[in-house]
Amino acid sequence: MYTNTKYIFVTGGVTSSLGKGIISASLAKLLQARGYTVTIQKLDPYINVDPGTLNPYEHGECYVTDDGAETDLDLGHYERFLNVPTSQANNVTTGRIYQSVIEKERKGEFLGKTVQVIPHITDEIKNRIKILGKTGNYQFVITEIGGTVGDIESLPYIEAVRQLKWELGHDCMVIHLTLLPYLSTSGELKTKPTQHSVKLLLEYGVQPDVLVCRAEHAITKDIKRKIALFCNVETDAVIEALDASTIYEVPLLMEKEKLDVIVLKKLGISVSGEPELTKWKSFLQKLHNPSKEVKIGLIGKYVELKDSYKSIAEAFIHAGVVNDCRVKLEWIHSESLTEDNILEKLKDLKGILVAPGFGNRGIDGKIAAIRYARENKVPFLGVCLGMQCAVIEYARNVLNLKDAHSREMNPATSSPVIDILEAQKTISHMGGTMRLGAYPCRLEEHTLAEKIYQVGEISERHRHRYEFNNEYTKQYEEAGMVLSGLNPDAGLVEIIEIPSHPFYIGVQFHPEYKSTVENPHPLFVAFVKASMAAH
Ligand code: GLN
Repeated sequence: MYTNTKYIFVTGGVTSSLGKGIISASLAKLLQARGYTVTIQKLDPYINVDPGTLNPYEHGECYVTDDGAETDLDLGHYERFLNVPTSQANNVTTGRIYQSVIEKERKGEFLGKTVQVIPHITDEIKNRIKILGKTGNYQFVITEIGGTVGDIESLPYIEAVRQLKWELGHDCMVIHLTLLPYLSTSGELKTKPTQHSVKLLLEYGVQPDVLVCRAEHAITKDIKRKIALFCNVETDAVIEALDASTIYEVPLLMEKEKLDVIVLKKLGISVSGEPELTKWKSFLQKLHNPSKEVKIGLIGKYVELKDSYKSIAEAFIHAGVVNDCRVKLEWIHSESLTEDNILEKLKDLKGILVAPGFGNRGIDGKIAAIRYARENKVPFLGVCLGMQCAVIEYARNVLNLKDAHSREMNPATSSPVIDILEAQKTISHMGGTMRLGAYPCRLEEHTLAEKIYQVGEISERHRHRYEFNNEYTKQYEEAGMVLSGLNPDAGLVEIIEIPSHPFYIGVQFHPEYKSTVENPHPLFVAFVKASMAAH
C-alpha cells in the first residue's frame, strides 16, 4: 500500500505523433526496472466516450483490457513494456468526462450551481487522474495527455495539470515532448518551435520540468544549453530522443540520457544504482540478431494503416524473438484476393493469419485464403473474425452448406453457422455492447490448444458480438473439426482446430492483446514455430 504516489504528466508540443506513448512507456519501464511500481494512464481529448466506435483508419487498433474497456492503442504499449495489465481507469476521454459530469448534473449533485469547464470538468479530470494513485498500488502514475499543446480540446487537461501542480507540489512534475526540426539546407536543428510550445504551456500556467526533444540528429551540449536558457529548465533536463530502429530500443536511449535519474531527482527521491534491464537487453539482442526468417501473411481489410493491427504485429515480434527468427509480415488486403488469384498471391507464405474485423467488406478474400491454407496444409491462425471465417469456409466446402454465413454478413442465410446470441439481439446502442474483456476458456485434452498452452484453463480477452452456432456442433465434429476450447459457463465455442492439418487453429478471442516482451503469447510462438517448419 503506497500513500505518497508521485504524478508525472507527459504533454506534447510542436506536432502530433512524436511518440508520447512510447516515451511514457519507456520512462515507466526504467522506473519499474529500478524496483518501483508504476502505471500509465492516457487522457484522450476527443468526444467519443471510448475509441470502440472509431474506425481503425481514424485511430488505429482498439485495444481491450481484462476488465473489458475499449481503449487507445497506447495502452497496448504500456502492457507490452511493463507486463502489468491496465484497466478502464487507464484510459479516459473527454466524452467520458462530460458524460459523468452531465450524469451528476441530472442527479442534482451540483445543488443548483452553474456547471462549468472550470471547476466541474477540471475536477472530474483531476479525480480520474487521482483514482489510480488512490488504489495504493502504485508509487508512480504517469499520465499522458493526448493531443498537442495549443489544441482547443486539450485545454481543460492542461488546466487540470496546472491545478494539480499547485495542489501536489513536489509530488508532481511535467515532461514536455517536443520536436527539433532539422533544416538540411543549413544543417541545423532548430529550437524555436520548442521555445514557442513551452511559451504556450507557460501561458496556461504550466512550467515543464523536463523537455524530451525528438530529433533526427544528435543534440549538442550547446543546443541543450540554449533550450534550457529559453525554457527555464536545467541543461540536464533537456533530453535527446533520437529516432530508434525499434520502439523497444527507446527505454535504453532514455536510460543513456538519464531520464529516470532526472525524474527521480525532481520528485525528491534519492537515486542509487542502475535500472535492472538484463532481460530487456537480452530480448533486444535477440531481436537484432535472428538467425532465421519466415514470411507470414496477415490478411485483413485495414492493412493500409499498420496501426490497425498493432497488437498482432507486436505479438509476432515477441514470438519471433523466442524462435530466434525474424517474422517478415506480408500485409495483404483481403479485398484483393479471389479464388482465381489466391495461389499467385499466397504461394510464398509459410503461415497465414486471418485478422479480426467487422462487416462484409473483404470477407470473400478471407474465406478464400483460409481454404487455401486448409487444403495446402499451410499453418493457419484465425483471430476472432478470422476464426469465424474459418467456420464459414468449413461449412461451405466440407459440410457442403453452400449458403453458410455469419448472421452479421448475411442476416437471411439458411445456415447461420456464426450467429448472434439471443441476449445481444435487442441491443441497438453501439459501443460497449459486445462481449468484451477477459473470459475463461476450458481446453479439451489432447488437442493442439492444450499442447500450446500447457494448461487446462486459460483466460483471454474478447471483443465481438457473434458466436459459433452450437446447433452445428455435431456436424463439424463428424466432419473432422475439433472444438477444443469452450467457455465453461456458457458452452460457447472459443477455439476450433483440424487435427489432420499440421497447424490449423482459430480463436474467438484476441490472443494478441496479452502478448508482452516478457510473456510472448504461446499461440503466436507456436504459430511462428509451425510456419518455420512449413515447406
Ligand atoms: N465482427 C465479428 C463479431 O462481431 C468479429 C469481431 C472481431 O473480429 N473482433 O463477432
